[in-house]
Amino acid sequence: MKDIERWIPERWDQIVGNNALKEYFWDMIWCVRKEGHRSGFNLLATGPSRTGKTSAITFGIKCLGCLNFDFETMNPCGTCKCCTLNHHLYGNEGWENVVDYEDEREVSTPVRYHYNPVDCTRLSEADLEDKLARIRVCNEDLRIIYLDEVHRLSRRFMDERLLKPLEDFPAIWIASSAYVKRDGDNGQPLDKMFQNRFTFRITTQLPNLDQLVIWLAERCHEWGIRVETPEVTLPRLAERCHQIPGMALQVLNKAHKRRSKLLTLAMVEEHTFDLDE
Ligand SMILES: [Zn+2]
Repeated sequence: MKDIERWIPERWDQIVGNNALKEYFWDMIWCVRKEGHRSGFNLLATGPSRTGKTSAITFGIKCLGCLNFDFETMNPCGTCKCCTLNHHLYGNEGWENVVDYEDEREVSTPVRYHYNPVDCTRLSEADLEDKLARIRVCNEDLRIIYLDEVHRLSRRFMDERLLKPLEDFPAIWIASSAYVKRDGDNGQPLDKMFQNRFTFRITTQLPNLDQLVIWLAERCHEWGIRVETPEVTLPRLAERCHQIPGMALQVLNKAHKRRSKLLTLAMVEEHTFDLDE
């Protein structure tokens, strides 16, 4: 059963747009796996909902743990015990795994890899303290801490508690936020001091219309969705979804949930594409 709206790619070329995020992950994965880096890659990814932050981040985290990683293509194998773990954030306390990392001289080193996801939308102060206590272990292990929807912490003045750990803990901190700088936005701007703890600050990039049409055709093909007059329907979908891939996936999901598996122009025209802010 496909969960289309929470789809995670299996190869980098299945991610449309977001070139800066891809570049960040390729460099980070290389440096961590080949050169032994364990910190210095703090990332703050910002951009509106459904523009691909979580799927790119989740996929990048998977690449770090793959037991048969392909450095030519930078793609994971998709079948090892790490690739088949549930990487979704919710209902997930995180996990740890031992991964053999092979360096430039092809010497293999077993590395304990800890993944700690933090859902900032429903984190209490006690939860945060508890998480920080568990994360604070100084050794050669690889630690990835993913703070999802981090602006929710600043709204409750809890971001300050993270300033020191962000700087001092030997880990890779990845944060995402739907906050965009715009008047009338409900999101609280992230504190400058907090933002400065992240060396890499990347805003999601939308694909252009042509890229999005090709991507939609590939997804339909992959999921067995037939498209009525694709030369009209797919460009119209790309346009109506404000070029936001995750919004277009809602309509593909509707088509996939029909017995006929048929995507029609009428479905594209009838769907309401509401931006969150
Ligand atoms: Zn794998």
